[in-house]
Parts: sequence; structure tokens; C-alpha cells
Amino acid sequence: MTMSRPTTEMNTDSAFEYACHACGRCCHFKRIQVNPHEILRLARNRRMTTGEFIDTYLQSDGPYLKVRESGACIFLSAAGCDVHPDRPLPCRTYPLGRWVSAEGVETYRELSPHPDSEGVYGHDGTVRDYLQAQGAPPYAAAADRYQALFYRLFDALHDALAREPVDTAYDDDVHEVTGVDEAAGGVARMKAWLDVDRMVERYCAGHGLDVPSDPEKILNLHVRAIDEWLQQFTGEQS
Ligand code: SF4
Repeated sequence: MTMSRPTTEMNTDSAFEYACHACGRCCHFKRIQVNPHEILRLARNRRMTTGEFIDTYLQSDGPYLKVRESGACIFLSAAGCDVHPDRPLPCRTYPLGRWVSAEGVETYRELSPHPDSEGVYGHDGTVRDYLQAQGAPPYAAAADRYQALFYRLFDALHDALAREPVDTAYDDDVHEVTGVDEAAGGVARMKAWLDVDRMVERYCAGHGLDVPSDPEKILNLHVRAIDEWLQQFTGEQS
């Protein structure tokens, strides 16, 4: 049943139902941002390291999935989404957009669907039901974890650059933790924080640890590497 779609803010108890009919039209002209958790999942799906994945599938200007000239997502094929089991969070919440306030309150709003989308809306369920069916909760938890970490990271780097005279000591620190130096350029240095495999290999080598194969353990070490670096760099406690 097609019904008029609410434009108001929703929470996880709000009535919502959506059936995707895999027409693929909604997988066009989207800017899908991915975090380290999603990059690791997608890289393993493609049987790549995270560095290879970043070089192959992310746009040159930031952590966004490439799109083809047609506007189609790089992973859309005639068969549908080629990475469906490991698709990122925005593809799981769609056609809902997710917002998290500074206080951690989660809200949702409906996004404008493609005008010819074959998706069907209904109201025999809740936002929570829909998200559960899409496997979204662990992706949302990982997104929130990385968002909090990267806010701390950006604040620390911003403060270092804002100091007078400019604090260039952080270049050496950044190189130590990411393995990428200043000459690589701003975007490459930004992406270096997302290269989970590279950072975890460096962390393990420096701490006499074996690199785990389990993705959860790899991500925990990635978070720990950044957190410990932040604590040393800023003197803060996490
Ligand atoms: S990752 Fe898959 S679901 Fe997400 S936009 Fe690309 S093709 Fe569509």
C-alpha cells in the first residue's frame, strides 16, 4: 500500500514500514559516507585490505563511495547491490535518515525517494522493526563510536594547527600512528586515519602483538590506537 509519508521527526517507536523492491533507482546520485567499520566490512567483502579498498572505491575528495558517470553507486550492478550483506549504514536506514544529537538522542526523518522508486511504504510496524530487519543496530553503534572518537581527533588536530606559532610537532606524531607523512597531502592524511589494516599493523608491530583476523578485534585495536595516540598528544584521558 502506498501512503503519504510523514515529514515530521520520528523516533524508534514511530509507525513505519517500507518494502524495497530492488529497482535500484534509489542507489543513484547519493553521497554515501563510510566510516572505518564500514570500510573494513566492505574491504573484506571485496577481499581487499582497507588501503586497497580506499584507493579503489572511495572518491578522491573524501570518505564517500564512488559513483559511476550514470550516477549509479559503484556497487550497483544488474543483479542489485553487489555488497548487500556488508552495505553501509545509510543504505540500511534508507529511506530514513538518522540523526544523533549531542546528547545522544536518536531521531529519524524520511528522505525523498527517487520519483520512480518501486519501494512501498506502509505503517504496520515501527522504525525499530525496520532497522532491526535491515541489520542496522550494530552499524549504528559503530558509527556512534567512531563519531565520538573522530570529534576528539578533529578537535585535537584543529587545536594543534590553531596554535601560534603553528605546532608542527604533530606531523611527526601523525606519521607515527598512521604511517603517512605531510608530503602525502591533506586528503591522503585524512584517509590514513581510515586505513584500519595499516594502522592496526603498525600498532601491533609497536606493541609486540599478533594482528588478529577477527574484524571486531581489529576494530577494537584501531579504536585503541587512535585513543592512546590522542591521550598522548593532548594529555587528555578518554
Ligand atoms: S552500497 Fe549497495 S545499497 Fe548502498 S547505494 Fe551502493 S548499491 Fe545501493
